Amino acid sequence: MGRICPRCGSERGPFIGPLCSRCFSEVYRVAELPEELELRYCRSCGAYKLLGEWVSGPGEEGEAVREYAILVLGQKAKPSVHLDEVSVRDAVTRYEGHGAYTVLVKVRGRRGDAEVEEERKVRVKVLAQLCPSCLKRKSGTGHQAVIQIRPLIGRLSEEYRREIEALLGTSEERLRSAVISLETLKEGIDVTVEDQSAARILANKIKGRFGGFVSESFKLKSIRGGERRGVLSISTRIVNAEPGSLLAYGSQRVLFAGIGRGRVILLDAYSGEVMERDLEEVSKYKFAEESPPGELMRLRYLGEGEGELLFQDEEGRVLEFSREAVRMISGRLRQGQNYMAYLLENALYLMGEGFEG
Ligand SMILES: [Zn+2]
Ligand SMILES: [Zn+2]
Repeated sequence: MGRICPRCGSERGPFIGPLCSRCFSEVYRVAELPEELELRYCRSCGAYKLLGEWVSGPGEEGEAVREYAILVLGQKAKPSVHLDEVSVRDAVTRYEGHGAYTVLVKVRGRRGDAEVEEERKVRVKVLAQLCPSCLKRKSGTGHQAVIQIRPLIGRLSEEYRREIEALLGTSEERLRSAVISLETLKEGIDVTVEDQSAARILANKIKGRFGGFVSESFKLKSIRGGERRGVLSISTRIVNAEPGSLLAYGSQRVLFAGIGRGRVILLDAYSGEVMERDLEEVSKYKFAEESPPGELMRLRYLGEGEGELLFQDEEGRVLEFSREAVRMISGRLRQGQNYMAYLLENALYLMGEGFEG
């Protein structure tokens, strides 16, 4: 007695679960796979990091990506429902720019004698990093720099750390290959860079992306033939708060409003007083867990009508405020722009540069 596929009516096997194998691969995925992988790759010798260990690679970056993808996906692939096992076979890599590759893999699943196959896309981001043996060889050139990346407030979250790593890993070749090591510490990230000009460019990129403060200091080690040798230390404090983030220091509660003229602008969440603080003072603040006493909302400034300023909230409601009730804390009021707004006792405090949205 022949079986009939309930989806296409075919009597042709093999069947997997209730469906014919062709319908199966259309309805189910053959395997659960991660959508993105990160590859730590040493551009100096071609080694890459596999499950915590540096292993020697095939010598070409795209080949290393392919090899790595097959090994890691083969290990991480979980067979989908109704299948006994899956394997990852062939892979084709395509460079997408900015240190990222798309890898097309063939995933084959099996149940009994029946086989199904599908092609899947996985993104592999290459993070250039010197392997320990190249690191040993390269250190001591006398032109090194360290970029210390620290958050403005509290701890650097995992999200920020990943974003910083991705930013460094997707810089131009010359900058990426200058990065000797990347160390995650409790207080932030230390990036050791082979040459000082590359370090300055990278530090500026970080500042450009996150905003914040950059300062330099130089530790002289020796002078050889009139050449100053030593380690340049670039300290970057990145802005890891958004307008409206509630911060705490003792019993004080303030909203982060932005940065102006090298100072951090804060708004007292209870009194509406505007305060400017320097970096050292702000480092004492932490993110507060609770909600502020006033109401935080995103508003778009529509313009002025009959002496009132008109705003629209995210639900599309129009709110009117007298000119006196509206206080611009950071940035400028521009028609059609969005702001983080804080409503406290009939006063409306606006924060942020005004972003499109
Ligand atoms: Zn079918
Ligand atoms: Zn190496």
